[in-house]
Amino acid sequence: MSTLFTQIIDGDIPADIVYRDDQVIAFKDINPAAPTHLLIVPVKEIPTVNDIAEADEALVGHMFTVAAKLAKESGIAEDGYRLIINCNRDGGQEVFHLHLHLMGGRPMGPMVVRQ
Ligand code: AMP
Repeated sequence: MSTLFTQIIDGDIPADIVYRDDQVIAFKDINPAAPTHLLIVPVKEIPTVNDIAEADEALVGHMFTVAAKLAKESGIAEDGYRLIINCNRDGGQEVFHLHLHLMGGRPMGPMVVRQ
């Protein structure tokens, strides 16, 4: 059973795709938490950060260079932005296909809610 994001990559589920190459895809988050909220997703199905292997290090680095390029193209690079990867239950992960959130377009506030 492919992940939700693989179904987007394969074109089986629609998404607002802003970038794709042979390693990653990026599309708008369906429930944006900021004026710019993109998800950068590897084509390879890696469930969580815990599953990143040494062989994936270049791929994960590529996710970040794509995020920086998209931040620049979105006009938020200079003001700044936030990159987030959630992992498992306590991290608040909902989709178990690795993805990098790129959020900006307003001050992003405190990093986490302190309890
Ligand atoms: P996470 O909680 O880190 O796993 O984030 C999952 C993100 O995927 C959430 O911000 C959702 O709004 C987003 N999302 C879920 N389904 C879709 C979809 N079909 N298209 C775009 N974004 C989605």
